[in-house]
Amino acid sequence: MPPPPIPGHCLTQVLVQTPAHSQMAGALSYWSPTPVQPGTLVRVPLGQRELLGVVWPSESPAAPEVALDPAKLRPITAALDALPPLNHHWRALINFAASYYQRTAGEVALAALPPQLRDMSSVQLARRLKKRAKAAATPARPSTRPTHDATSTPTPDAGPAAASVVLTAEQQQAIDQFHQQPGPFLLFGATGSGKTEVFMHCTAALLAASPEAQALVMVPEINLTPQLEARFKARFCARYGDDAVVSLHSGMTPAQRLNSWLAAHSGAARVVLGTRMAVFASMPHLQLIVVDEEHDPSYKSGEGARYSARDLAIYRARLEGAKVMLGSATPSLESWHHSRPAAEGGRYLRLEMPSRVGRGQLPLVRRVDMNHQPKSCIIAAPLLAAIAQRIARGEQSMVFLNRRGYAPVLQCSDCDWKSECPHCSAYRVFHKIDRTLRCHHCGLSERVPRACPACGNSDIMPLGRGTERLEEHLAELLADVRRPDGQPARIVRIDADTTRLKGTLESQLAQVHTGEVDVLVGTQMIAKGHDFRRITLVAAVNPDNALFSSDFRAPERLFSLLMQAAGRAGRDETVANQSEMWLQTFQPAHPLYEALKQHDYPAFAASQLKERQQAAMPPFSFQALVRAEARSQEAAQGFLNLASQAAASESDMAALLAQLTLYPAVPMSMARIANVERAQMLVESPSRTALQRFLSAWQAVLHHTRADPRCKGVIRWAIDVDPLNI
Ligand SMILES: [Zn+2]
Ligand SMILES: [Zn+2]
Repeated sequence: MPPPPIPGHCLTQVLVQTPAHSQMAGALSYWSPTPVQPGTLVRVPLGQRELLGVVWPSESPAAPEVALDPAKLRPITAALDALPPLNHHWRALINFAASYYQRTAGEVALAALPPQLRDMSSVQLARRLKKRAKAAATPARPSTRPTHDATSTPTPDAGPAAASVVLTAEQQQAIDQFHQQPGPFLLFGATGSGKTEVFMHCTAALLAASPEAQALVMVPEINLTPQLEARFKARFCARYGDDAVVSLHSGMTPAQRLNSWLAAHSGAARVVLGTRMAVFASMPHLQLIVVDEEHDPSYKSGEGARYSARDLAIYRARLEGAKVMLGSATPSLESWHHSRPAAEGGRYLRLEMPSRVGRGQLPLVRRVDMNHQPKSCIIAAPLLAAIAQRIARGEQSMVFLNRRGYAPVLQCSDCDWKSECPHCSAYRVFHKIDRTLRCHHCGLSERVPRACPACGNSDIMPLGRGTERLEEHLAELLADVRRPDGQPARIVRIDADTTRLKGTLESQLAQVHTGEVDVLVGTQMIAKGHDFRRITLVAAVNPDNALFSSDFRAPERLFSLLMQAAGRAGRDETVANQSEMWLQTFQPAHPLYEALKQHDYPAFAASQLKERQQAAMPPFSFQALVRAEARSQEAAQGFLNLASQAAASESDMAALLAQLTLYPAVPMSMARIANVERAQMLVESPSRTALQRFLSAWQAVLHHTRADPRCKGVIRWAIDVDPLNI
């Protein structure tokens, strides 16, 4: 180690948020007047700026080459040592995520911290912590009562709310298994089978057994956190104090996020509820991780380090010796495969809860064969009649269509002009409400032209339909139908357009709950999670697209969406037995719809897994995508193909290449967004280790290739490990 310029100073490695693809991949070196513990937050100078950093032990994989001139190293500005350091488990999680997802540890670590910390001085932070400590000390926080012995009492009383809950035999059995086995667990429970109650019981038992224990409960969407937060708070805050349950998601203000994060980091929060970002929450006494709706694609990050919070949850639980429970009515095929019997190589324990709690049967699935309907039919007559019948009975219906706006395209009847976006390989969508053409990819929005821009013809027509047009159409069709009170039917649309303003989603949902709405129209947004008790009919207007998608995961996503949507129907016991799900399809005999009709996820999963195995696709192989963006499609593809050739000529990669397939570069399915051309290259291997080793070796080649004069038009590139969209 080089001698310090000032006697007594020590060399300190610090992670900062380095720009992606800068060559500063590892920790940076600074001098510190006193030794600083690993995991301590510090402020350090970098160039002209001062940044937040984390002291990182030099033996970690992110350690720098110490070929530095000690005289050029600068001292750290301040250590934020009022805050306890981030522990070695947290640091190991960051190191793993960075290396697995091919990013720098600095990027992952700093992105995992609340943004407000970045701008705080050590004085400000110390003041903030003092204020927190004072607030915690003054109000009457319930003291920790002597706890029940959780092993002898698997379902301890955890406050007044728990006393009224009677568990079903299936719930009790799942909870017993949870206590007896190490896991990981996959809770395979039908919609309405009471999975949340199981999560709460398992959480209660662990918290009661240890006065410090913490649990992390993840849900896929911000919209679902308020409902869940209310339930957990009702159950746990009476016993453990108001600070005991906190949320962490991107919909919170920076101040709220920092507060929750500090509560988790200090151990004051016993339960942290959050979206995928919460998987990185600092929780020094973590003993349980729950991943609800584990199949949901939003657990996978779409930018920066493209991590899967579900997969990191499994890793983190093993790292910390915590238990982990994934839950879903339609598990991802990966998790389903992992939970096959241990004798066949399964690693997760599957806990099954097939029955709905006190809510009768799952809805009857009806298929409308659209081949036998008039050509321009949007809502088939029998479906319309069924909706009208429900309105007359005072029941609710939910109709969904996966396309927002009025019509996906505007077309000239004379010259075949279509409303293409000039900057993207997509059409601009016609929104009738403000008469605009909007691109859903780059955001370009223009007034609808009075006449065809190409030929001047004034007859330009909407083609196809989105939710806005569906809503209008339904209003016309149902104009004469009356509610039991003699009033006309009320139709409400919920999609990204109607919920743009903060609070509108909540107020629209409230309208549905109070029964003011008879028909709810929307995108898949309404099919997820919300507990609509009085809906007895759910209809998918045009679900067929996914059956013929080039993405091999499309059927899996469709099945899960339809199962979830079906689960929205008949959650109220009194109406459950009349509830129905309607599918309008040109493929009524498709095996996916057959399995759906039987509510038979295992049969669907078995057929999908068989296909995947035959085609050597995940979970039977491992994939990564390298995506490149450039000024031209040639440049984007050229860069990827050059990097692929360069890998083939490197001798140390030859052995690895024998174990994997590099496909030629192709344009992405959305080849152009906002005038940027996009291409991708798929890398596939039967061995996860071989793929990982190849990717980390290939990084340097990609950097090098990017600097090649032939790749001048390349804007950026990124690796996506275990991609969800291909
Ligand atoms: Zn025209
Ligand atoms: Zn566009």
